[in-house]
Order: sequence, then C-alpha cells, then structure tokens
Amino acid sequence: MDDQLHLGEDENMLALRRAWDRSMHTLANRVNKPSFESWFKSMKPVSFDGERVTLGAPSPFACEWVSKRYGNLVREVLSQHLGKTVDVAIVYLPPEKRPVLGEPPAEEPSPAQREPATMPLEPEPPPFEKPALNPKYTFENFVVGNSNRLAQAGAVSVARAPGQSYNPLFIYGGAGLGKTHLMHAIGHYILQTHPRLRVAYLSGETFAQQYIAALREQRIDAFRQKYRNVDVWLVDDIQFIAGKEHTKEEFFHTFNSLYQLGRQVVFASDRPPRELHAMDDRLRSRFEAGLIADIAPPEFETRVAILQKRAQIEGIQVPDQVIYHIAYAVEGNVRTLEGVLISVAARASVHGKPITLQLASEVLARHYVDNRQVHTVPTEQAVLQAVCQRFGLTTQDILGDQRSREVLMARQIAMYLLREKAQLSLQQIGQMFGKNHSTVLHAYNRVKTSLSRDKELTSIIYDLNSVLGN
Ligand code: ADP
Ligand code: MG
Repeated sequence: MDDQLHLGEDENMLALRRAWDRSMHTLANRVNKPSFESWFKSMKPVSFDGERVTLGAPSPFACEWVSKRYGNLVREVLSQHLGKTVDVAIVYLPPEKRPVLGEPPAEEPSPAQREPATMPLEPEPPPFEKPALNPKYTFENFVVGNSNRLAQAGAVSVARAPGQSYNPLFIYGGAGLGKTHLMHAIGHYILQTHPRLRVAYLSGETFAQQYIAALREQRIDAFRQKYRNVDVWLVDDIQFIAGKEHTKEEFFHTFNSLYQLGRQVVFASDRPPRELHAMDDRLRSRFEAGLIADIAPPEFETRVAILQKRAQIEGIQVPDQVIYHIAYAVEGNVRTLEGVLISVAARASVHGKPITLQLASEVLARHYVDNRQVHTVPTEQAVLQAVCQRFGLTTQDILGDQRSREVLMARQIAMYLLREKAQLSLQQIGQMFGKNHSTVLHAYNRVKTSLSRDKELTSIIYDLNSVLGN
C-alpha cells in the first residue's frame, strides 16, 4: 500500500489510510469471510478531521447495514490502529465519487451532499419476525442442471451480496420447477450469514390480502411500515398482483422505495415480465433492469439427480433402475416427480416390501397419467436418421455388418424403436437389416429389459423419443 502523502492530502488522511489498511486485516479476522467480502472490502476511507472518521460504502444498503451491525467493531478497530478514540460515520459514496486506491482522493462530496445518506451508529434494530421458510429448501438441496442454472446462479449471487449484485432478481417458470425452493434458499442463506437482516418472504396473494385487510381496517400506515422497512424482500407468485388495480399500485410503491434504498428484491412468477400484461409498465421496466432468469423443465439427467438427492435426504434406499424408470416416465414437474418417489417408498414401507421396478410401475400406472400416450408414428427413415445422428454413424453402418460395441448398440436401439415407434413388424425390420426375425426379437427384448436398468440406455431412448416427437 502507498504510504506517501498525496497532493492535497493532510497528515490526518494519511494516518487514516494507514490505519484503515491495518484495520482491514484485523476485520478480516474478526468477521466471517462472506461478510468481509461483501461489505468491508469495498469500503473506502473518505476523511478524518482528527476526531471523526468518515468511511464510504458503495450502496445505501451496505452503508446502513455496516453501521448497524458492525459500527461498534469498526470504531473499536479503527481507534486501536489510529491510537486514539474516534467517531465513525459511514456514508454512501456512489462509485464514481470514491477515491481510487493509490491515487489522490477525487473531489470529496461536500458534507452537505453527504449528509442525507449518513447513518448514525444506531443501537440494535428492533427484532424482526423471521419468515417461515421450509428447512429443506436450501441451496445444498437444490440440484443444478441446464434447465435451472441461470436462476440458481442468480439466486446464489444475490444471497451472497444482498443489494449488491442483481436487483431485482426475477425468476420465472412453470409450476413445480423450483422457484419457491430458490426463494427460500436465498432467505436461509442470508439469515445464516447475516442474522440481523430483516428478510420478508410472502406471496403476491398474501400481499394482496394483507393490503385489502389493512385498507378495510384503516391500518395502511402499519402495513407500509412493515414492508418498506425490510432489507430483503422475497415475493413469490407475483402474477397474483397483476390486474388488481389498487394492490398493484401499492406493490409498485413498496418495490420502488425498497429499490431506491438499495434493498434486495427478488420476485418469482409463473410467466416472464413481458407477459405480466396487467402489471404496471414502470414495474416491468424495473424488472428488466435487474436479472431475469427462467427455469425450464429439467432434462432426464437432472431428473435422475433430483430423485437421487431426494432419496438421500429422505434416507431411503432406491435402486437405480427405479430412479431411472420414474425419471423417464415423469417430466415437467419436479413436485410430481418427487411425489411418485415418495409414494413408491411409502407403499413399500407399508407393505414391508422392497422398492422394485414393478412397484414403481404400478404406482405410475395407477396414479399418474402417462403423458406419452399421444403417439405420433414416425417413419422408418426418421427412426434410422435419429439413431444415426445420436451415435454419429451412417445408415450403412447400422444396416451393415459392423460389430463394434457402438454399432451393435445403435443397431439394437434402431430395431427396438422401429418396432416400438414406427410400428413395423419383426419381419419388416428383419428385411431392412438382412436378419431373421428371431434376431430382431432378441435385440428388441434386450433393449426392453435393459430399459430403466441402464441409465445410459434409458437416457438415449429418452432423447430419441423426444426427437421422434414424443
Ligand atoms: P415452484 O415454486 O416453481 O412451483 P417449488 O419450488 O415448490 O416449485 O418446487 C417443487 C418441489 O420440487 C419442491 O419440493 C422442491 O424442493 C423440488 N425441486 C424443484 N426443483 C428442484 C431442484 N432443482 N433440485 C431439488 N429439488 C427441486
Ligand atoms: Mg412456488
């Protein structure tokens, strides 16, 4: 660090810069790493008149938060390194006004400019009721795949540095795809790393109901007070607000005041902002200024991982083939996916039986509609092409006599699909391949019985089914 007196800088300021450097080392050891990274690293010494130190923080939120939570600590540590007891004020310093390290401080904001954002070192904030969050909905329990990677990354980033990364974060996607899970995970993480932050979690519907009740009972001030004072505002299913005239107006104002204070806001919805037609345009454009992340239905691999994770959390032993079978049969909704697993496990436990493929098939057949019922019949050419493409082979490879493992597998899969999907007879398939019908039957049966037992095969068939329009 630069120990020289800078142009225009006085002894006090030099002393402060030195003391702040040392204080940073002390603070790094006194607070946990995420807090240090999120809050202290970005703070800068601004001025020192011999008695009072002013420090700058990059957002009003950081400023208020450090003052409240770490004000005494900062004062103590800085006093120690300055060799005298000082007062400390933490002010919001917009990034362009912050002195660049190693350079003379840029023109400082005048005290008058600074004043409105100055946060006195307050005593403890009043206790804030902790939100009711599902203890299982944590980041650890959330399986990441291509379908939800962006939403998960956004959520983690926001949880690590509330108010400092994406704001607002907007997560959207169909039912049962993990939106609520991620919202709760953000809440858990923040409450763990920053237990004093006021985290509110509610649904759009709750907001609407509470607002209407407050209006009716003339408690509107208390209602406003409640939500406009939170540090982190997590609102689930905000589509309920769209179209409700007054509620939507109140919602906008609440959002706006939190947003302007640099508080973290996270929304979840079943549709993207542009489709929240009845929502305020001002609100929609604000959403677009933050991060909008969608969650799509998980692909086969992710469904397998989700089921494995769930089995592990529940402490149940589930054979792989049962997992693959369920993952294969249920797409679209993770809640349903897990529901099948749990009900298979429950049934096995009630009857004192092991969890088997048979049991899983029964549960699926009895309780869950198979959405693969609508078959379109692909042509034999389409089947061959799809298989060739999947394996990177040519039609000649598959129809010929090559016997490498890869080609044998592709050939058997092609035979299976020609029968299953293209609905050709064993004879017809035999003719295509120049084989007799018992060879075809053997290949067909082999694939059929390995399905669900073999993850690689199940995954391949699943992909091919999707390509072939099913
Ligand atoms: P949404 O709010 O989008 O309707 P939820 O968050 O309620 O969906 O998720 C439904 C169920 O699926 C929950 O039990 C949740 O834990 C689980 N779930 C969804 N996505 C995942 C995932 N990626 N990893 C683990 N569990 C998941
Ligand atoms: Mg939900």
